[in-house]
Amino acid sequence: MGQKQHEIPLHYRDGKARLAIRTGNNAAWNCACDRHEPLLGYSDVLDGPISSDVVCPDCGRTYRIVAPGAKKVPEYVHEIKPRDS
Ligand SMILES: [Zn+2]
Repeated sequence: MGQKQHEIPLHYRDGKARLAIRTGNNAAWNCACDRHEPLLGYSDVLDGPISSDVVCPDCGRTYRIVAPGAKKVPEYVHEIKPRDS
């Protein structure tokens, strides 16, 4: 059966909607910058601890993998902080 790859919404701050991929309580997606490697992380609630934020090492955009509870099945990925200026 394998690990099914589910598509979930990805919300950039510029309003563009893309897709992230989740499996289990993890999700992966491409940053809005030119970074080639995907970002990857585990889920948390929208206002959960900052330690569960995913920060792009290239541009500093910060994302949260949003779920109904910590490490639950992700519902969407949300960009919570824009790129470093
Ligand atoms: Zn980036």
